[in-house]
Amino acid sequence: MFESLSERLGGVFERLRGRGALGEADVRAAMREVRIALLEADVALPVVRDFIEKVTEQAVGHQVVKSVTPGQQVVKIVNDALVEMLGSETAELELDVSPPAIIMMVGLQGSGKTTTSAKIAKRLTEKDRKKVLMASLDVNRPAAQEQLATLGTQVNVATLPIVAGQQPVDIARRALQAAKLQGFDVLVLDTAGRLHVDQALMDEMKAVADVAQPQEILLVVDSLTGQDAVNVAKNFSEQVPLTGVVLTRMDGDARGGAALSMRAVTGKPIKFAGMGEKLDALEQFHPSRVAGRILGMGDVVSLVERATETINADEAEKLAQKMAKGQFDMNDLRAQLDQMKRMGGMGALASMMPGIKKVQNAMANGQVDDRILVRMDAMIGSMTPKERSKPELLNAKRKIRVAKGSGTTVQDVNRLLKMHQEMSSAMKKIRKMGGLKGLGALFG
Ligand code: GDP
Repeated sequence: MFESLSERLGGVFERLRGRGALGEADVRAAMREVRIALLEADVALPVVRDFIEKVTEQAVGHQVVKSVTPGQQVVKIVNDALVEMLGSETAELELDVSPPAIIMMVGLQGSGKTTTSAKIAKRLTEKDRKKVLMASLDVNRPAAQEQLATLGTQVNVATLPIVAGQQPVDIARRALQAAKLQGFDVLVLDTAGRLHVDQALMDEMKAVADVAQPQEILLVVDSLTGQDAVNVAKNFSEQVPLTGVVLTRMDGDARGGAALSMRAVTGKPIKFAGMGEKLDALEQFHPSRVAGRILGMGDVVSLVERATETINADEAEKLAQKMAKGQFDMNDLRAQLDQMKRMGGMGALASMMPGIKKVQNAMANGQVDDRILVRMDAMIGSMTPKERSKPELLNAKRKIRVAKGSGTTVQDVNRLLKMHQEMSSAMKKIRKMGGLKGLGALFG
């Protein structure tokens, strides 16, 4: 996301960085370029004006012009202004009420509302360990209720049984009662979509909100529609008390105009970003990290977060114990590889950590990519269960078989075995240094 804006701004800063000292004229020239970059990114004009004014004022001040690295200072000022434009703080879901907490989803047809309902339900179930019920109030579009039920099955979240012919407000009442009686923590109400802002449907939405009294009313908008998305949000917020916005299709949004103007124009925070069609492609919207990505600073924070989310501490401890006892086998190694894949594979790691590309290039023939993870997995798959738990059983003949079975070479198999051995002995060392806490000692 934000590729084209990122590239433009990168060019501006590159030219600034090359300079020893910056005068007022230099700053103003740079800001003219930043202004064009933002307008090309489809950011609302008043928002751009505000932004440039603020940044110029600070950048032309004494501090910058006399500072040792003026270019960097400007980058910092622009970064801070971007964070502010994006909403400053991360806006969390506010579900701290006696259950069930209610989230009402609203938006235009095709914005990704139903998909996002399922994504949020999945996230609340898996990450926050909430018991979630979803209900579709969309009686306009044929099969809308079935669509949500199907998604519910996919993400293991309960959906309200469908009663044919029931009207939205009645469905909302029934959902509320079911959620209360069956002890659900959260109820997600997916309302009917609109083709455009249409009064009958707006009235229906208000009636549902009256009955359900939701803690969160989230508007789902398509970021690819740019300023239209912002106008839709403005319109909706005049009709119902929105608590936040979810921007979908950010994965394909090279410009970023909707994300950058949303907060300033509507006053509503962006709570989540949809990053793809898959049901786990939903990210919490962190203004500082998004600004970091726009300016091309590696998003190390988000990398660490993803890593800790994926790696379950208990699992790691169990694994460490197995390793220490010399019981770390190929099945465990396979689980580790799988974990790396879940973190987004080598490619995702590389795009988030600026330094990792260099490391990759420096490593043996630059071939550290996802194919290696896949090949290792195939080799382990070609072993017998016995060999997986006791890799030392693999003799020369069997190694040839495994290589053939996985479309690799005997050298590859040997490399895999060596890696497994090295991991085992590294883990033993870590245990001696005091369990997982010893990890720090290894790196630091
Ligand atoms: P609704 O009419 O608002 O309920 O829209 P749907 O949830 O049915 O979504 C419409 C289409 O957009 C579906 O094909 C989704 O897979 C797709 N979609 C939803 N969110 C995203 C996203 O964040 N990124 C991408 N690339 N596609 C999305």
